[in-house]
Order: sequence, then structure tokens, then C-alpha cells
Amino acid sequence: MNRPTAASDPDRATPMMAQYIEIKAANPDCLLFYRMGDFYELFFDDAEVASRALGITLTKRGKHFGNDIPMCGVPVHAADQYLQKLIALGHRVAVCEQTEDPAEARKRGAKALVRRDVVRLVTPGTLTEDALLSPGRNNYLAALARSRGGDGGDDYALAWIDISTGEFRLAASTAERFAADLARIAPSEVIVSDAVFADPALKPLWLGLDAAVTPLSAAFFDGSTAGERLAAYFGVLSLDAFGAFSRVELSAAAAALAYVEKTQIKERPPLSPPIAEAAGEAMVIDAATRANLELAVSVSGSRRGSLIDTVDHTVTSVGARLLARRIAGPSTDLAVIGRRLDAVEWMLDDMGRTGAIRDQLAAAPDIARSLSRLSLNRGSPRDLAAIRDGLRAASALGAAIGGAGDPPSTEIANAAATLAETPGDLVDALAAGLADDLPHLKRDGGFVRPGYDRDLDEARRLRDESRRVIAGLQATYAAETDLRTLRIKHNNVLGYFIEVGAGSADRLMTAPLNARFIHRQTLASAVRFTTSELADLEAKIAGAGERALALELAAFDALAARVIAASATIRSVADALAVLDVTAAFAVLADKEGYCRPSIDGSLAFTVRGGRHSVVEQAMRASAAGPFVANDCDLGPPAGENAGRIWLVTGPNMAGKSTFLRQNALIAILAQAGSYVPAKSAVIGVVDRLFSRVGAADDLARGRSTFMVEMIETAAILNQAGPHSLVILDEIGRGTATFDGLSIAWAAIEHLHEVNRSRALFATHYHELTALAHRLARLDNVTVRVKEWKGDVVFLHEIVCGTADRSYGIQVARLAGLPAVVVERARAVLHQLEETDRKSPVDTLVDDLPLFSTAQTGASAEPETDAVADMIDGIAPDELTPREALEALYRLKTARAAKRE
Ligand code: ADP
Ligand code: MG
Repeated sequence: MNRPTAASDPDRATPMMAQYIEIKAANPDCLLFYRMGDFYELFFDDAEVASRALGITLTKRGKHFGNDIPMCGVPVHAADQYLQKLIALGHRVAVCEQTEDPAEARKRGAKALVRRDVVRLVTPGTLTEDALLSPGRNNYLAALARSRGGDGGDDYALAWIDISTGEFRLAASTAERFAADLARIAPSEVIVSDAVFADPALKPLWLGLDAAVTPLSAAFFDGSTAGERLAAYFGVLSLDAFGAFSRVELSAAAAALAYVEKTQIKERPPLSPPIAEAAGEAMVIDAATRANLELAVSVSGSRRGSLIDTVDHTVTSVGARLLARRIAGPSTDLAVIGRRLDAVEWMLDDMGRTGAIRDQLAAAPDIARSLSRLSLNRGSPRDLAAIRDGLRAASALGAAIGGAGDPPSTEIANAAATLAETPGDLVDALAAGLADDLPHLKRDGGFVRPGYDRDLDEARRLRDESRRVIAGLQATYAAETDLRTLRIKHNNVLGYFIEVGAGSADRLMTAPLNARFIHRQTLASAVRFTTSELADLEAKIAGAGERALALELAAFDALAARVIAASATIRSVADALAVLDVTAAFAVLADKEGYCRPSIDGSLAFTVRGGRHSVVEQAMRASAAGPFVANDCDLGPPAGENAGRIWLVTGPNMAGKSTFLRQNALIAILAQAGSYVPAKSAVIGVVDRLFSRVGAADDLARGRSTFMVEMIETAAILNQAGPHSLVILDEIGRGTATFDGLSIAWAAIEHLHEVNRSRALFATHYHELTALAHRLARLDNVTVRVKEWKGDVVFLHEIVCGTADRSYGIQVARLAGLPAVVVERARAVLHQLEETDRKSPVDTLVDDLPLFSTAQTGASAEPETDAVADMIDGIAPDELTPREALEALYRLKTARAAKRE
């Protein structure tokens, strides 16, 4: 209803509205921030949307076709904070600036409109301001390209860019894997072609992504022109220098670049040439596994309590970002992993030296992001200072490491060599040019060091001298007029003026003083005047001030240009700082937490001795919740076999099954990320894909039943896992009726064992599954030990061979505070059920199923435990109240009766 239509009757729109409507029409999918003086104003529907989203007042400005125009505005100086809110809510914003001086416009006539243009589209994937970014996280824009294959299937490729750091990467992918690749990159925004976006098969993926998905016309992805477009951006004749790319990779890369150009309008962020990642370079971890293992965010949705949060001891933002990338995409390359671990070991060899390195690192600001802002013409004097301080810290660090006693590992030596190339002359130039105290905005001036530019010093001297003369004038005027309260003041509207109290004004407005003092303004309590002398001085100050600012801005541009010219070097210095920071941080982690160096090879081994869960261990220590019990895990192939084992973990609720499962997955991730691991020792055959699923996870947000989700996820594992994969299945099959669930879990284990042949940990409450160990050679039963104590269950959190004798559900329920009568009743029902079950044991099922025709019937032949005797053992008469004693008696009678049946 409020949507403006310029075409229908342009004559009736004011010229400004006509300009607004034209610009808005060109950016229909964005909220338009239309610059008016010191504000960005939003009109029509945009105003309504933004005022609601930002909680700011909706007002009106003028009329359009007789209707009020809804309007709201945000001050320019606070725009970042409003932008951040809008972007977080999923909006896109077009920033429209005045592109000429209002004085220029006036030359075209008194009513001429100032030219305006959109200078930038602000979208989630193309942010550069610190206020809009998290320091420790990359902010990626990812382009997903698809090329339709014949019957060979489709090809996919991903290109991703962080314009705030200049990183540009690219990787081939597949229909089966690209979702996991996207989950690893964790972009804030994904661009796809309209056709890919509309593909019904991919719709659920877009909904599930924690990113804005932006569909674009096919032209962005045009593979036939992609190579040329890329070469043009980087100013090279041929892309060969960067490596060989497939057509679909080129198409993704060119689309990402085109989108950067579209959103940045005229500015060109200096991107590194695209680096192609080889397929399989990183461990494949899909989104569900990441969420389940709480790698980057905990189940509560915050970073706190995630693996990254727990192991991150970095002291710089570049380091924090690299650490997050390494954990998100652990390497599968033995040489890379080995180099990273060597580097950590070097740091650990001398923690004193490592501490000194970290002190120097901590002095280095985020030069990658400052460089990007300077290149996009959004830099401030503080960004120049950040480059100065960062490079200075880098070269000191390079020298310190180069001079260190024992020979550094390859990775450290490479980083130190890069730091040694830090351009010292650039640091000197910045140090000479920048003042000690720097303003936030360059337009405020005052950031060039005195003595740096002689013309600037002269202009400043003129300006300051006139200011001093003005200060002297006050004394002169006060004496002349005999008004001791006369003051010379300044504000933005009047400039300099003379102010006297209302009662004294008459004297200045009558002869002879009125010849000198010119009235300007009358307020309730004061009257303001000027003099021609004051006006002259003011003009001088303004002129000198303007000239000083112009000179400062020129100095800024010259320094920024030098920084930009050194982009490639600065970026590699930033990368080297990041490597040192992450390596030192891993050393600190290992040192503090007692982690060990894992041994990684190409085998199918998975032998962890004394393993712990990084996050649970630290959380338990923080809350003084007792020691974390370390556990072993061995999933390597048994003698004579050529595939890893499956451990079937049974045990009561709360025993520690889930913790055990996850800790082993996290150990694999940390090891391949290049970190030491929470264990006494660990030998791990490189894991190519990691899967982790929990039964009955709630996913109502996506409108699927929990059981459906569980099955979709399990299907993905059974379709994709291979012999080098590690699979964690936690209580799969819980979300449906018992027999369904049991059957599905049963079949899934068989499939994992026979077809996927993966190393796997499978936690279950279906005790019946333990019978499978008789038949499946590489399946071992383990259980979490518990001890019964006075009818209660005590969790020992210790994994041992064997099967749980029962589930202790009722004891756990009792611990949880279920009313005693309910607990009693449940016990009676359980006895009844167990009796019925004993008459048709599942073990006969094992015999009946074809695959298990030779299964032993040993399980049912095991000596039955005497429940009554156990219960008597559990009673401590001295500690019972009379009532508890009576309850115990009843319990014994019921148990005895059940046994006799
Ligand atoms: P399950 O999956 O068997 O129900 P969890 O793995 O969820 O059990 O563990 C339940 C609780 O037991 C955890 O929250 C933790 O406090 C504690 N816990 C688990 N494993 C250990 C351990 N190895 N050492 C000490 N406490 C543990
Ligand atoms: Mg559990």
C-alpha cells in the first residue's frame, strides 16, 4: 500500500522523492539508508520495517500522492550499531551517500538536488567493520556452483571469501559432500544460482543453514566467462599462475567475486589469489555431527562450552580465527599434521620462551582486518596505527625466534622467515606520520604527528594562533565594555560569538558600543553578539582548519596507499602471526591440561589410553565436581582382520556413555587439527570422515519428527561411512517403539560391521544387542561400571569389557526424586516384565535370523544373578528408618514371589 510508484506520476513526487524512488527501485531487496545530512533516513515500507526492528520512532516526512510518507532515521555516527542489528535479523542494507558537495549542487541552481548514489550493499557475508564482526571468527561469503552432469551426477564447487581478511579459497565438492563442506566453512551468507535455489531437493538444506542464502541470476555463475572475470579482477592475463581449476570451480569463484563487486560497488578489496583446496584435505564432518559434538557452539547455542571455546588459548584475533578453522576442518594430511605437532612440541620445549612469544603476539592488533578496511576506503587513523603496531611486533618476533637457541621446527621456521621480511620502512613511515593519540574518524583530523608535514604545521599554527587571539579578545572586550561577565563562546550554529547576560545587553545595543557589537541572538537569559574583528578571525581559523584537515587527509591517503601497496606482505605476516599464536596456544593447552602428543599414521588404529573429554573435564574442575575418570578405547583391527572394531557400549543412564563416545571423537579432531590430546597416549589412523549422531534429538524447528531426523541422519552415515571413518552412534533407535528401535539399531550395527567396516562406538540401552558380539567378529561389548550401594546406584564412569547386567533405570529415577510409591510400583512392574521376557528371550531371535544361524546361546546359559540375595546384601539395617525397613521387607517379598513364578 505504501509502496511508491514513481512511474505512475513522477510529476507529483518532489524531486527528492523522485530520486529516492529511483534508487530504491534499483535495490528492491535492500533497506535503503538514504543520506540526509547527519542522518540516514528510511522511507515507506523500509521505515516501517526498520523502526520495528530497531525500536526507533516512526514519523512522517511530507506527502506522496496525498499520503503521509512514513520515515525513520539513524544518526550517521551511530550507523554501525543499527546496521549490526538489521544484518543480524537477516536484512540487507543499501547505503546511499551524497556523492557531491552540497555547494556543488547549489551551483546548478538554488533548488538543485545533491547527487546521491548507493556506495555499498551491506549483506551478512560482506562486512568489514569491527562493530559488525566477531574478532575470533572469519566472516565468509560462500558461492556454491553446480554443473549438471549426465548420468555421472552433478559436479559441485565452493568458493569462499572473507573480505575482512582477504582470504579467498575454493574447493571441488560433490552432491553428497557439499553440505558438510558448507558446515565446515560456516559462511554467514551463501550465494547460489536461482536454479539451484529453486531445486526442491535442496530446499531443506537452505532452511537448515545458519546463513543467509541469496539466490542470484545465472549470469553470476556463467562458467564460460568465469576465467576472464577472475583474471580481470586480479589483473593477470591468465589464471594458470594460480593453478588449474575445473569449470565449475571457476564458476563458483567468479560468482563470489562478482558478488563482492556488486556489494562493494566501486571498491575492490585486495583478495589473495584463490587457493584451491584438494578434495579430502580436511576431515569431512557434517553439520549434525558438528552440532552434536558442540565443536563451535554448545547445544545452548552459545560459544561457551563448545570445544573451540574450551581449547582456545590464543592471544590474537588472527590466531583465534585460524584455531577455529583448524578445529572446524582437521587435516587428513599426515605431513601437515606432523609439522603442526612438531611445532607445538618446539613451543613446549621451552615454555618460558613460548610465554615471551605470546607477550609479543598479544601486542599485535588485527592487521588483516585493518588492511581490508584501509583498502576499501573505510579505514581510520587507528587502522594505520594497527598496521604500524602489528608489523612492529611481527618483526621483533621474527628476530627473537630467529635468534632462539634450538633450531625451530619447519612450521615455526617458515613463520619466522615471513616475519623477518616485515617491511621496516613502512613501519618507520607510519611511526613518523601518526600522532600519539588518534581519533576514531579521519574526518576529525588531529592524527598527523607535529613535525611530519611543514605545510600542515603552518596551517595548524595559524589556526591555533587565531584561537589564542580570540581568547585575548575576551579580556579586551570585557575591559572596553566594563562587563566582567562577557564571554566569547563557540557553537556549531553560530560559530564564535560574544555572550552577555540579558541585563547587560542594552549597553551593547546602544551608542557608542552598538557601532561595534552586532546583535545575533536573544535567549531568555543571555544575548549574543559578534564583531567584524571576531568574524575575520573566525574565517581565518576556518580557512586554516580546512587547509589543515585537507593536508591531514592527504597524508592519510599517502600512508594508506603505502600500506595497500604492501598488502600481500602484510597478509602473509598476519598468517604467520596466526600460525605462531595457534601453535603457542596449543602448547599452553597441553601444558596446563596435561595433554599428550598423539601419534597419527595411515593405519586403521584407534588406541587411546587414559582418554578424557576436554570440555567435561574442565567444567567438572571449575565446579569442583570431582575428578574426571579417564578411559581407554581401542577400535583398531583385531589380529588377522583388516577393518576396525565396533564397541557396543551399554550401561545405565548417567553412567557416562555419551561422554565417552564424544571424547574419542574430539580426540580425533584435536589430533588432526594439530593439537595435543587429553589422554596418556593416543595412536590414531587418520580419520577421513567423522559422524556423530544422537537418538531422538529434537528438531521441531525444521518441522520434522525427531525420529525422522534420526533416521535421515543414520541413513547418511550408513550410505557414506567407510573403513577410515569414525562413527559415533548414541542411542540410535530411541525415538520409536521398542521393537522398531531395537530392530533398526540391530540392522544398523550389522551394516556398519559388514558394509561400512568403519571404526565405531555405539551406545545403546537395548541390552539385547550385546548378543550380536557372538556373531560379529569385530564387535566388542563394553559397559560403564556402576556399583550398587544401599539400593542406590553409584556411577564409577569406568569403561570395562562386558555387558551391563541391567539398566538401573529405576534406581536413577529414584535418585532423580520420583515419589517412593511410584518407584516401588515401577519395581513391581519391572519384575513382571522381566519374567515375561525371560520366557521368550531375544537370544532365540539371534538363532532364528539367517545371518546368525551359528550364534551361540551362551548368553541365556549364564548363571542368573540372585536378585533377592543382592537386595539383602544392599540393606544396611543400622541406617534404615522404621518405615524404610518396612518398605525393604515388602520389596523382598515381591522379588521372592517374582522369582518363584
Ligand atoms: P550417559 O550417556 O551414559 O547417560 P553421560 O555421558 O551423559 O551419561 O554422563 C552423565 C554425567 O556423568 C556427565 O554429565 C558427567 O557429569 C558425568 N561423567 C560422565 N563421564 C564421566 C567421567 N569419565 N568421569 C567423571 N564424570 C563423568
Ligand atoms: Mg547418553
